[in-house]
Amino acid sequence: MPETKMLEQYAELALRTGVNLQHNQKLMINSTIEGATFTRIVARKAYELGAKDVHINWTDDELTRLKFEYADQDVLAEVPEWKVKMYDTFAEEGSAVLSIRATDPDLLKGIDPAKIAAANKAGAQAMSNFRNYTMNDRIQWSIVAIPIDAWAQKIFPDEPAEQAKEKLWEQIFSIVRVDQDNPVEAWQEHNDILAQAREFLNRRQYHTLVYKALGTDLKVQLPKNHIWKGGSTTTEKQNIPFNANMPTEEVFTVPHKYGVDGVVSSTKPLNYGGNLIENFTLTFKDGKVVDYQAEKGQDTLQHLLDTDDGARRLGELALVPHHSPISQSGLIFYNTLYDENASCHLALGKAYPNSLQGGSDMDEADLDQNGVNHSLTHVDFMVGSGQLDIDGVLADGSPEPLMRKGNWAIEFE
Ligand code: ZN
Ligand code: ZN
Repeated sequence: MPETKMLEQYAELALRTGVNLQHNQKLMINSTIEGATFTRIVARKAYELGAKDVHINWTDDELTRLKFEYADQDVLAEVPEWKVKMYDTFAEEGSAVLSIRATDPDLLKGIDPAKIAAANKAGAQAMSNFRNYTMNDRIQWSIVAIPIDAWAQKIFPDEPAEQAKEKLWEQIFSIVRVDQDNPVEAWQEHNDILAQAREFLNRRQYHTLVYKALGTDLKVQLPKNHIWKGGSTTTEKQNIPFNANMPTEEVFTVPHKYGVDGVVSSTKPLNYGGNLIENFTLTFKDGKVVDYQAEKGQDTLQHLLDTDDGARRLGELALVPHHSPISQSGLIFYNTLYDENASCHLALGKAYPNSLQGGSDMDEADLDQNGVNHSLTHVDFMVGSGQLDIDGVLADGSPEPLMRKGNWAIEFE
């Protein structure tokens, strides 16, 4: 384990810059048994910062795996009402929600993909009300990650567990800026840079983005009045700033659900529900995936695409410069929170309604008319690399270079 001081700094950063816990506010933490030491530090810090109550939902990879091995599919697809109610109640009460993620990328290797798909779908259905709170920024929420044996050893396969974890902690502290003199201030500076990129893109209001790289030739239309977001965001009603992901290096918006055409190739393995999908290609026509091919995990990809109609359409488009600290680490993290912030990415499934002006007040039919996708799922996959060029096409049809060789082609003021 790293020194307590570093863990405390990380905990404080997650609580102040991450969820931005307010005095007298309740905090719900999702965490893992393997991360109990860090979780206790976070809970103590939360009380010190004035939390009214701290509730922990513990998970355990080993028990999760056991259930998938032994329980029937219909049992796996059962989500107890009390569990749904618990999440909904915390959200209704205006609690902050912090997820401390740490999971084995190969946790469900060898498990029947149909079982996993059934469990994922049922979980997403049951959580759809709660998800509306997070996806519309109605509550402060944040996701951070910590090392566990299996995850660390997936990244550093030649190291014994302890050393692998030590190395991963170092990476996390550096990428999340915990090792800087004043991490909270460092995040303010970082958020300012993301705000400049986001404001530039909001002014440009590109009609279409054109992606070109080896194995990728894709046109993505953006809906009228789309909003680019990135870095810190604020809650819908109370305007409390928070950072939903730590790290975060992306600016993102909503692609038009009926306006995606061409082919896109993944550039990093995708960890979906405990299984890896690798080297895959998706072909789009009028926004819909009409063909797909994966070197590894074809079954898993198929189940993901078959979740519902919306799972075959895009719900997010995110730009991340190739020289971001995570890509500079040169590592593949097999973890979406880290890998997505190393690379330009797209997401299959549900779009963030507030990526469109007035979107959070629209019903499903209105959102659909405006090109904003709906689905039970939202899965990011990586398409960025040092080879990727992106042009922004303005409303009058004229293109301009937006990214070249994976980095911004524009100087932000
Ligand atoms: Zn993203
Ligand atoms: Zn996403």
